[in-house]
Amino acid sequence: MTAVISGAGEAPVAQHRACGSCTLCCKVYNVVAFGKPAGTWCSHCEPSLGCTIHANRPSECAAFDCLWKTTPALPMHWKPDQAKMVLTVHPNTNNIQVVVDPDLPSAWTRQPYHSQLRVLAKSNMAKGHLVIVFVGELATLILPDQDVPLGALTLDQVVSVMLEPGPGGGAYEVKIFARRATASGQTLELASASRHPLRSAA
Ligand code: SF4
Ligand code: SF4
Repeated sequence: MTAVISGAGEAPVAQHRACGSCTLCCKVYNVVAFGKPAGTWCSHCEPSLGCTIHANRPSECAAFDCLWKTTPALPMHWKPDQAKMVLTVHPNTNNIQVVVDPDLPSAWTRQPYHSQLRVLAKSNMAKGHLVIVFVGELATLILPDQDVPLGALTLDQVVSVMLEPGPGGGAYEVKIFARRATASGQTLELASASRHPLRSAA
């Protein structure tokens, strides 16, 4: 079971909450072991009840925990079956990835979720991490003062954001890089860049 951009949240972590009636990760992520695509229910899932092959589920499923499950400080309305989105933390970048139930693609724009994603973006950016929402492969970067549609983001792409000072407070420089294999290892190639003037004191 992998997140859209990487295996975010797959590292084994202590479990603090029970999934209960939630089974949303069995829908929104792909499962490599079965070739199950993201965004469709796993054939072994009984939605709201659980996994019918729990004892024999793939290791990628057994290792998965979402952020709500491991973070008691996240309020109950963030439980994925209520929020209609699953949050994970990318193990390498510490970016927060928000994967939305494709049956409610606007889930992340509702309140109080959108305002709280904005607060998360602000505190995360101060630490050098991003908040990125996915509806399928379509990604939206949540900045402290605006949302930036990124288009389709794939496994080999990396997002970077720099706040460049300037008139009016400056602008966010958003760049997307593609990973390329080279003879000497791996390199990042700039795929796109865009500039987003600050809209408010961030
Ligand atoms: S999304 Fe989180 S709470 Fe829901 S079933 Fe998966 S791990 Fe459990
Ligand atoms: S095998 Fe079980 S845990 Fe894994 S996605 Fe399917 S229903 Fe969920």
